[in-house]
Amino acid sequence: MNALSATTRYFKQAVKILGLDTKVERSLLIPFREIKVECTIPADDGSLLSFVGFRVQHDNSRGPMKGGIRYHPQVDPDEVNALAQLMTWKTAVVSVPYGGAKGGIGCNPKDLSPSELERLTRVFTQKIHDLIGIQIDVPAPDMGTNAQTMAWILDEYSKFHGHSPAIVTGKPLDLGGSLGREAATGRGVVYATEALLNDYSKSVSNQTFVIQGFGNVGSWTARLLFEQGGKIVVISDATGAVKNTDGIDIPRLIEYAKKTGSIEGFDGGAEIDPSSILAEPCDVLIPAAIGGVLTRENANDVKAKFVVEAANHPTDPDADEILAKKGVVVLPDIYANAGGVTVSYFEWVQNIQGFMWDEDKVNAELRKYMTRAYEDLKEMSKSKNCSYRMGAFCLGIGRVARATLLRGWEA
Ligand code: GLU
Repeated sequence: MNALSATTRYFKQAVKILGLDTKVERSLLIPFREIKVECTIPADDGSLLSFVGFRVQHDNSRGPMKGGIRYHPQVDPDEVNALAQLMTWKTAVVSVPYGGAKGGIGCNPKDLSPSELERLTRVFTQKIHDLIGIQIDVPAPDMGTNAQTMAWILDEYSKFHGHSPAIVTGKPLDLGGSLGREAATGRGVVYATEALLNDYSKSVSNQTFVIQGFGNVGSWTARLLFEQGGKIVVISDATGAVKNTDGIDIPRLIEYAKKTGSIEGFDGGAEIDPSSILAEPCDVLIPAAIGGVLTRENANDVKAKFVVEAANHPTDPDADEILAKKGVVVLPDIYANAGGVTVSYFEWVQNIQGFMWDEDKVNAELRKYMTRAYEDLKEMSKSKNCSYRMGAFCLGIGRVARATLLRGWEA
């Protein structure tokens, strides 16, 4: 099922639970603005490379639209649309004063040199600079992009609008980035996991984890869980998967991957087939890579008691139903991975105030936001007698709907 159909199905289920007016429902679903631009750059060898770039600005009733920019071969308009919608509910779930947006370029960043990536980022920024803004739409990193990408966007945008550090978040520290932003999504995943486990009288240190993905989110999640005594028994990246039932030495794996560029060939465990990773026995399964990985075909094989969604939309609605029937508790993406956008908000606030927080303050505030959102979503799930996913959708959609209704429409 494609990402947009899946997200829309969750949205409609939640709207039904909330009993929202269909007028509001349509207005919430249709994106505020969809941008599609051609990005052609000269390649290093003098030939021309053409790509399509997207930015979907989904909703701005609660504040400036916010969301990452993804460089990935699978980027398409429907997926960007779905991810933008998820950002709208996500920012509302954690109560940061933003709407939702998402962008992307259909490309494989691994096939491009650093100078080609820089040219591509600058051309994309030139095409969208008058449609984004500090109080309009604030991009951030996502899959295939990083702090350097944000630095190029900041520089290109500033040529048109003057020095504007708050135009992007997830920047390098030297350009006004926030301490703690790089680790924030993974740290938020860990805070969310702790809150969940605590409710079941468990803690990170007595649980086993399987993590799919070893990019920014997967590796930070693994590192922080490991530091707390969590046993990571299987972890994968795009090149393969490694298994060690005694627990993988994550700091050593991080060092290894830094040196070699992947986890392939790591000697701290057995190499296993990455296609079966979601079925590996563990207490907590953490998908932290691409979307749509848990489907009708494989959901029945899941052996974990808990699924914490560090990736965006890893579980399609059929799989969600199967997991619920099996009694697997799923902590949904729009809550579990909201630590990234929460610290993005702190970064934007620091830029606007011209004042830098220390890392302890960033992490303490992040914990506060994640814990409060957990309590809110638990309360909602209880009062509506629904899953955490529906609780999170109801919480997010309800907050956005209230803001929309309060603002009203032009006569
Ligand atoms: N790309 C991240 C997400 O999917 C962060 C977005 C942001 O910080 O604006 O939540």
